[in-house]
This record gives sequence, C-alpha cells and structure tokens, in this order.
Amino acid sequence: MSVEAQDLKLLANDNRGQSGLENGSGLVGWEEVTQGSVLQSFDGNATGIALKKQEERAYSGYNSYTATVASWRIIKPVYNRDVCIDCQNCWVWCPDTSIISRDKQMLGIDYDHCKGCGVCVEVCPTNPKSLLMYGENTPMEDALSAWPEKKKKEK
Ligand code: SF4
Ligand code: SF4
Repeated sequence: MSVEAQDLKLLANDNRGQSGLENGSGLVGWEEVTQGSVLQSFDGNATGIALKKQEERAYSGYNSYTATVASWRIIKPVYNRDVCIDCQNCWVWCPDTSIISRDKQMLGIDYDHCKGCGVCVEVCPTNPKSLLMYGENTPMEDALSAWPEKKKKEK
C-alpha cells in the first residue's frame, strides 16, 4: 500500500541552533563542544534503525532531522504527479534527503528540510519536467495549473 506524503509525520521543528549540549556540569553551546564529543543521533537503542521509516525513528534533539531549514528557502520545488515516471533521480541527487519516496514511488517534497537548491529539477528527465521551481509563496494550485506543455524536439 502506498503512503501519501501528507500521512508522514515529519518531526522537524524550529529548534535549529537551540539545543544545549550537556558536558557533565551544565549545558554548553555548539561552539564550545570539544573534539571527540559524541552526539547521539537517536534516543535509546538504535539497533535496526536503518530498517525503520524516517518518521518512525526516535531521532535525538542533536540530529539535524529534528530541525527545519525551511526558513532558508526563497524558491521551492513543486511536484507534478501527472508527469512523473518514478525514476527516482531526484531522490538520488537531492543533497538534503528531502525527496519523499516509498517503495520506489515518488511521494513529494519534505518541505521541512528542502533548501530550495533546485538540483532535483535539474536532474528530472521528463518532458515537461515533473518538478519545477516556484516562488516560496506561490500557491501549489497556481503552480500546477501553469505547468508547461511538452516541448517538441527541434529538427
Ligand atoms: S530543491 Fe534541493 S533540497 Fe529541495 S528537494 Fe530539490 S534537491 Fe532537495
Ligand atoms: S526525477 Fe522527476 S520523473 Fe524522476 S522521480 Fe523525480 S520527479 Fe519523478
């Protein structure tokens, strides 16, 4: 059974840079962490964690997955399911693991972590592309209704 993107409970919140790190006697800032410190990426036993879906993992507050970078973005990728061939190219190339794919089916964009770099659009092979960049505040319906037609090959 496929999972709809909106069903995924992403854990990010705006705690970027706010995590205090315990050094035994109190909390220190990120710039005070000494070499060799270990920041646990997960809370509790992480055995078999790779087999769990992202939204099921117990990420610790030190894991970047729990912090959103959405505020960095001024343009966003919009995904058009009607054109996508599920080739997974965008999933492979996204530098922020922000393409949501399950069972080799593209589901959409994780907008909590996408930085708006546009790499996914560059590598999308369809004609027209299945991902296009739009202004951050462009409504999805507007973007999808203005999707370009298939380009004819030049002879
Ligand atoms: S714009 Fe960049 S960060 Fe966002 S989904 Fe595409 S490749 Fe990933
Ligand atoms: S690269 Fe384009 S066609 Fe391939 S899965 Fe991503 S959106 Fe779909």
